[in-house]
Amino acid sequence: MKLQWKSKPAITLVIAFTVGIGALPVLATGGAVAATNPCRLPGGILHSEALATHSAVECGAVGRLVDAGDGVALTVQQPGESVTMDLLYPSGARTYSSTTDEKGLVSVAVQTPAKHQPTNQFPDLAGPGACDRDTYELRDYKWRSPWLFRTTWGTKLATNRQSDFDAAVRRSLANMTQGKNTCGLRGKNGASGALLGHTARQGNFLYADGQTTCGKRDRHSVIDEGDLPGGSFEATLAWTCTWSETRHGVTRAVEADIRMNSADYEWTYDPANDPKCIPALPPEKDRWRYDVESVLTHEMGHVYGLVNLSAVEDLNLTMYPGVRRCTGHMRTLGSGDVLGMQALYGRR
Ligand SMILES: [Zn+2]
Repeated sequence: MKLQWKSKPAITLVIAFTVGIGALPVLATGGAVAATNPCRLPGGILHSEALATHSAVECGAVGRLVDAGDGVALTVQQPGESVTMDLLYPSGARTYSSTTDEKGLVSVAVQTPAKHQPTNQFPDLAGPGACDRDTYELRDYKWRSPWLFRTTWGTKLATNRQSDFDAAVRRSLANMTQGKNTCGLRGKNGASGALLGHTARQGNFLYADGQTTCGKRDRHSVIDEGDLPGGSFEATLAWTCTWSETRHGVTRAVEADIRMNSADYEWTYDPANDPKCIPALPPEKDRWRYDVESVLTHEMGHVYGLVNLSAVEDLNLTMYPGVRRCTGHMRTLGSGDVLGMQALYGRR
């Protein structure tokens, strides 16, 4: 699904607003909930202005969609909960988050790292190598228990075998938790996770009101495939939604889903040997194969709490949102990626 949107300048943009919740209403006994819609919110996607003067809880806005800018909507979370949506494109990335704090204040933020031209150069682009940069940026969440997830039955990019997909998922998980690198660093960190098997469930993504976004928490972490919507010029390659909650001042990730775009892109498990992956030839759809393991490794970086890098000097790190066609360059972490995971989870 491709949408044409206006081009945005290559800057980092953060929009935030707050919503005063005030005193929570005390429900009358007897089963009667007072007013049905005391705030007279309109139907459809809420605007930030509508929420700026009304209480999200009182108004029944929790669980509804709020415009986060760029035509992207997010779900208003329960107090103390947050959802972060990472969109990866061939030429960049965007991150949106919606947080409702323990007092009921809602904030919405957008981050758009610098855009770059899609490229097929291999293995590294000119510039500092992956081992020369120690850059990382962290989310405010991390896992305090293993990330346990399943792949949806029938998820099989590129080949007809789900076992190929599952194997790439396991390698990607190991890349992040073992800190696989070619820098000579001891990369292992304390993060853990496991693919538990398959599920009939799909990832918790919502297609509603012409919007596509992260749904409400369903307590199941799932990786699947599907059709993903457009960004500025191009369909997203992959989405990650990570839900987190803050209780007593401690923020923990509690659920994360990843969806790979199987409708608009071609994929490979072995870019170096895939006969249909010819990076030297001009870009044509059939040769725009992306490495499943590379994209999953980057997305799992978000799941564990790493943020997209935006400085062009970091273009060879895994967390720089610059995935290239027909290479596995994001499979091995750069120095900053290793240090970021160890900053969150400790060195092992
Ligand atoms: Zn990213």
